[in-house]
Amino acid sequence: MSLTGFSLSGGDRQFLEYRLRTRAFPQTVLLAGGDEDERLALAKYLANALVCTGTGTRPCGVCRACQKCRSDSHPDIQRFGPEKKNGVFKVETCRAIRQDAFVLPNDGDTKVYILEDCQCMNDSSENALLKILEEPPAGVYFLLTCSFRGAMLPTILSRAVTITLSGSETPFSEQTLQTAAQIAAALCARSEWALLQTTAPLERDREETGNVLLCLAEIFEDALRVKSGAAARGRSGEASAALAAQFTKPRLYALLEAAQKLSAENDGYANANLLLTGLCYRLYRATEQHT
Ligand SMILES: [Zn+2]
Repeated sequence: MSLTGFSLSGGDRQFLEYRLRTRAFPQTVLLAGGDEDERLALAKYLANALVCTGTGTRPCGVCRACQKCRSDSHPDIQRFGPEKKNGVFKVETCRAIRQDAFVLPNDGDTKVYILEDCQCMNDSSENALLKILEEPPAGVYFLLTCSFRGAMLPTILSRAVTITLSGSETPFSEQTLQTAAQIAAALCARSEWALLQTTAPLERDREETGNVLLCLAEIFEDALRVKSGAAARGRSGEASAALAAQFTKPRLYALLEAAQKLSAENDGYANANLLLTGLCYRLYRATEQHT
């Protein structure tokens, strides 16, 4: 089995593959959208890949860890969720997870928590969980599943990388597409000035800022697909192709991650001006880091 069996966008799939391959998997991932069976199946697949002790592509399917995963009996993969369907994901459960996270793993050096139906958490549960997500112990991973990402507190979203299942295309307005394409062009031109100028009109419109960030994430994802040899998709194809020509893969991942994080934090900023400054700064920085 591979990630191609899941209804992921090309960008999300490549992101997961890349991070598994380079063993730089984010410690908190939110799997949102799709149906609950698929979310759980993906969480289990990723958990298996993380505990796999194979040296090549993970999961290898043959090591002892993989065998245990097949029978759902790996001691370092634990599942939690609401006690009953549509019940509350209790604060007590989150506190117990927080304590357990500091206990060393049984088999290897990795522990994975699959937290299902996180949309059933209330604010106290999310805040209890947040404490451990802020500083997770080394080797501990949290895979959260959730019907839609908007159900989570912005503070949780800012700690997690969101992966969206069966990503139906969001219908962006012409204006949004145009602004996002202009931002992409400013990034390609490495012009901070053009970036500030393009984003200035967003100051008055928080909702439009959110749309532009989602649209940018889509463009960055598409640029990654182009980088892997695929053809650019319709709507913002030119922008994606230009980005793919200008930047390396790690830079495009950094841009995608920056757009996703900014999008998650959008609601959390009280000051629109500060958000835009942060947006320009972080996108620009993503183009120049050297890794
Ligand atoms: Zn394995």
